[in-house]
Amino acid sequence: MPAATGLSSSDPAPGAGGAPPPVPAEGGLLVPVDIGRARARVRFDTSTRQADVEATVELQLGEAPGRPLFDLRQEVDEVFLDEVRLPVEAVRHRATGAGEDARMRAVDVECEARSRHLLRLRYRLSRPAATGAEPLDWAPAGDGVRFDLWMSDLEPGRYLEMWLPANLCHDHFSLELDVEVAGTGRPHLLLANGEVEELGAGRSWAVRYPASYTSLSPMLVVAPADQVATARSEARCGARTLEVTVAALPEAAADVGAAAADTCAWLSYFGSRYGDWAHGDSFLAVLWGPGRGMEYDGATTASEAALEHEIFHSWFGRGVKPAGARDGWMDEAMATWATASSRATEARFASAELGLDETPLELRPWHPWARHTPREAYAGGARLLAGVAYQAGGAGHLRAALADWHRRFAGRAATSDDLCRHLSTWCGTDLRPWWDRYVEGGRTAG
Ligand SMILES: [Zn+2]
Repeated sequence: MPAATGLSSSDPAPGAGGAPPPVPAEGGLLVPVDIGRARARVRFDTSTRQADVEATVELQLGEAPGRPLFDLRQEVDEVFLDEVRLPVEAVRHRATGAGEDARMRAVDVECEARSRHLLRLRYRLSRPAATGAEPLDWAPAGDGVRFDLWMSDLEPGRYLEMWLPANLCHDHFSLELDVEVAGTGRPHLLLANGEVEELGAGRSWAVRYPASYTSLSPMLVVAPADQVATARSEARCGARTLEVTVAALPEAAADVGAAAADTCAWLSYFGSRYGDWAHGDSFLAVLWGPGRGMEYDGATTASEAALEHEIFHSWFGRGVKPAGARDGWMDEAMATWATASSRATEARFASAELGLDETPLELRPWHPWARHTPREAYAGGARLLAGVAYQAGGAGHLRAALADWHRRFAGRAATSDDLCRHLSTWCGTDLRPWWDRYVEGGRTAG
């Protein structure tokens, strides 16, 4: 899909929909913005083992005037707003009230309501300032680099904002990336879930991600080509035939052909059971070592053992996206309930009565600027869904309800309350008391 130009007019106004409210601060408001388009040049110089970025984002304020909020977990060297140079302190991190990890940067310039601006930043990449983030993986000088966006739902600041200026995950924007690997004769491979144009064989690429993406959508992996084993196949998935690419790094120790066969089987199965593919005509997986997996739009980086779980997320999590950063618990609850999972306390498709007298759970963090998925989302969320399956009349009914959920929301975003309403209809019971206790932590229970 070609990248959109200019601001995306289809987004809800900031402050509505999934955007958190403005943050009162000394001298006025820090305000959420709508990012319409982001562009960046990333140059990995393998001879000096340094990566430099120049990034530009087009942003627009909502109905409230104030200082625009964004995030970037890198140390900024230069900053310009509307081509006027600002001191780097003018984009320092500010508290949002949701804890140190959930801090955001504010541009220290008072801007009018609905005004549009161009923010340009220059910086050198290092390990992002976010819990669990990984450093760049340089080979010895002149021998190459491995890079992975390495996102996570589990900690704040672990989406695109680790590497590039970005908004929270409610906001749709187009992203254009020019990537270069310099200072080595070793060819590299770039794998991404966007349109990739190779400009210089094995060393420079233009990547265009569609305007339907949010900060949790883009996947990008760069690695020396001689380290990557690749298998290509086709999968029948609902009404579509998908081009499937599975690439394996050495530490995956994977039979890449066998992994591609499994991938095709899961794509066909989920397509039959949960509905049509929402991500164009392709699927991309990159296999890494054990103990990790991350979902992206129509793509994943995963260990072989996590593949089923991560492919399922192309329906639930990235097919239907969380409307806000606090709604990510739904995706992990569904994936744990419906796929093989070491994090579940019960077998997949469990159905078991759940009363209103067990320990309350806060799967959806209460603060509007919170932006992580609590780890209880896996086992606790799956337990909640087992209780819903019981009320719906068994696992088959809940699976039909999930297929209907995907049919209604695929390609769009949904909230925790949307899910409560949807499943209440399928159960013929108002599930609000269960949501109050096992999603909201019992805070709103009467
Ligand atoms: Zn997951």
